[in-house]
Parts: sequence; C-alpha cells; structure tokens
Amino acid sequence: MMTNNEFDIVIVGGGLVGLSLAAALGASDLSVAILEARQPVVDWPADSIDLRVYAITRESQNLFERVGAWPAMLPKAGPFRDMRVWDSGGNGDIHFSSADLGEPYLGHILESRVIEKALLDVIAGLSHVQRFCPATVKAFGDLADGHRIELEDGRTLRARLLVGADGKHSKVRDYAGIHVHISDYGQQAMVAVVATERAHAETAWQRFLPTGPLAFLPLADGRSSIVWSATSDEAERLLELDEPNFCTALGEAFEQRLGSVTACGERVLFPLQRQYAEHYVAPRIALVGDASHVIHPLAGQGVNLGLKDVRELASTLLDSRKRERDIGSLPVLRRYERARKGDNMATMLAMDGFKHLFASRIAPLRWARNFGLNLVDAAQPVKNQIMRAAMGL
Ligand SMILES: Cc1cc2nc3c(=O)[nH]c(=O)nc-3n(C[C@H](O)[C@H](O)[C@H](O)COP(=O)(O)OP(=O)(O)OC[C@H]3O[C@@H](n4cnc5c(N)ncnc54)[C@H](O)[C@@H]3O)c2cc1C
Repeated sequence: MMTNNEFDIVIVGGGLVGLSLAAALGASDLSVAILEARQPVVDWPADSIDLRVYAITRESQNLFERVGAWPAMLPKAGPFRDMRVWDSGGNGDIHFSSADLGEPYLGHILESRVIEKALLDVIAGLSHVQRFCPATVKAFGDLADGHRIELEDGRTLRARLLVGADGKHSKVRDYAGIHVHISDYGQQAMVAVVATERAHAETAWQRFLPTGPLAFLPLADGRSSIVWSATSDEAERLLELDEPNFCTALGEAFEQRLGSVTACGERVLFPLQRQYAEHYVAPRIALVGDASHVIHPLAGQGVNLGLKDVRELASTLLDSRKRERDIGSLPVLRRYERARKGDNMATMLAMDGFKHLFASRIAPLRWARNFGLNLVDAAQPVKNQIMRAAMGL
C-alpha cells in the first residue's frame, strides 16, 4: 500500500517531455508524481505568441492524440504543408510537398505554452498522477528499493523509479553519476515572431547561411516564428540592431522570399550546445528528453526526439507492469535505452553533419552540397523517404 509520498514513478521536470510522460503513464494503475519548479503560464493575451514555438511531427501528434491532449491543441496549431530548403552559397534548392505523399500536411507549428496547457489539463483529470508545482528538488538519496527525493520546501517523496525529465542541466543525471559529453556549437539561436509582406503559404522555410541556418516557421495567425542560428558575435550584433535595421537584415538574409519583413517582436538568444549522456539509465533511474540529449535546432527535432523517448519508456514500463516485472530493474530499463540511444545519436550526428557541410566555404564542398540538394530535389522517391522520416511515419 502506497502512502501519499510514495510513488511507483517520480518524474523530475514538468517541461513538455515530463508532462507527456506523466500523461502517457496516467491511464495505468502506476502511481506517478511529477515535480516542476516553474509555474506554468496558462493565460495570455489573445493576440500574443509564445517565443518558444515547435515544429511538431506527425509521430508526436500521434502521442498527443493517444493521451487525449491533441483536440485542445488543434485550434491553435498551424499546419505546414510544404518545406523549402536552400543554400546561400549557390543554386541548391529543395522543395518538399505533402501533396507528393498524398498527405494533407507535413506537421504543425505549435506554441510551447499551448502544448503545455493541453497536457496539464489532461493530467489534472488523471487520478493516479499527482503534480507538485512549484517544487524544486534539493537532494536525492538511495533507498533499498528506490530513491528518496527531498524538496526545497521540506517535503520528501519516495520513488521505485526516478525519471529525469529535468532538461539539459539535469540534477537527476548528476545524482545517477551519468557522464555527459558537452560541446559548444559556437553559435547562438535567435528566436522572434515576425510579420512579412507576403503570406507564408503554410510553408516551413530554411536557408543555410555560412554563419548558420535561418528558419521561418508558419504560424496559424499568418505571422512567422524565426530561428536564426549564427556565430555568437553575429547573433549579438543582430540583437543590438534596432527594429527597422533588424527587419532589413533579416529580409536580406532570407532573400526576401516573403517580401520585406514588416515587423519584429521581442528577440531572444539561446546559446547552442550539443550534449549527450553516456547512459540513459541506472538502477531505478531513467533519463528522457534534453536530460539525455541536446541537439542543434536546425531541423526542429529536439522536443520530437524527447517525445519518442516518452513513447518508448511508457510502453516499456506498462509492458513490464503487465508482466509483473520490476519497473525499476536494469534489464527493464535497458530495453528502453537500447531502443532510443541509436536513433537519438544518429539524429544528432545528422544535424552536426548539416551544420558543418553548410558552414563550409570550401569550393568543392559548396559545389557538392548544391549538386546534392538539386539531385535530391529531382529524385521524388528519395524526397518522399526524407519526408516520411521527418514526419516520423
Ligand atoms: C532556439 C531553439 C529552437 C528549438 N526549436 C525546436 C523545434 O522547432 N522543434 C523541436 O522539437 N525542438 C526544438 N528545440 C528543442 C527543444 O526546445 C528541447 O528539446 C525541449 O524543450 C526539451 O524538453 P524537455 O522537457 O526535455 O526539457 P525542458 O524544456 O528543459 O524542461 C525541463 C523542465 O524541468 C524543470 N526542472 C529542472 N530542474 C528541476 C528541479 N531540480 N526541480 C524541479 N524542476 C526542475 C525545468 O523548470 C523545466 O520546466 C529548440 C531549442 C532551441 C534552443
């Protein structure tokens, strides 16, 4: 019999990955606690847009549908049906279209707070999930059959399985003694919401510049959310520009594909690092999302990878529960690690490869990447494969 501070699973971190895991486990008879330090934003002015915006794949959408959160997200989701990728250093250009696959769209653009609120509403209706917020972890301790979690406010919880969904500075990872490899991309990503002269045509746009990729993501209200990765000096310089000069610089960097940039909201910089944890699991501990891998945002895959972790970990745990196996045991947890590590690593390496390839000013490489882009553009079956992979189908 569990008392109210004893849980089968304690998830530290209620970002999108932690919340999704709680929602995915919530329909079972496992008792789950989720701890989050930050109070979520659940109300906002109707015409405002969150600076944190994500391109959500079809596979991630499937997870949200399964846990019952998608209907609340859909009215705020901007579908993107096409994707255009081109190189500033030549004539390489690829056009991906959902119509070529006979699909209605490639994915959706969603504000982080919209996803968060929909997941919180689902969790509020799950009797096996208890949410602690605001709650910050102060310390952890070993128990014979689990872990002790001490909160800053003096409360103590016990877990048979401790899950670290606590982001790139994961305390759970440190506690588990799992080594993390960290390297700096030497870039910062600027995010902002912008208005353009012409409509975005429900297309996600990405131009590769020598200083880093520039993406325009189509929002449901007609504006675009930009992610402009650049060398740190260049990003700082762009941040310092006043709005008219920044809009001009942005329009030029984007080759005015949507006409001129007419307005720009607040601009925020995120330093970009690559991180990967040597292990995802330890006795009675599992890591998910950015706690185990942080990748370059150039293809907008970070949260989508975290949601794949969620799907895999939830199915491993629910299956083990059904078979009456110990959900915290290493053989069970290693099944999750084996299923996810290769995919996460391959995606990280692919992102790194793109970043380096497109940053190169070496003439044969520039020729090869433009040739490659045009070659792929002409090969519909290859494009279809890439689109299916990007959609997670
Ligand atoms: C500029 C930029 C653009 C991006 N664009 C995309 C995109 O288009 N698509 C995409 O898929 N991904 C994108 N990403 C990546 C994405 O932001 C991350 O992969 C994702 O947010 C990771 O989610 P998470 O829940 O694992 O971690 P986080 O979002 O970091 O959440 C961790 C949570 O844990 C809480 N926490 C931490 N420590 C404690 C503690 N001790 N006690 C209690 N709570 C704690 C934190 O408050 C936080 O809420 C982008 C990233 C950047 C930088």
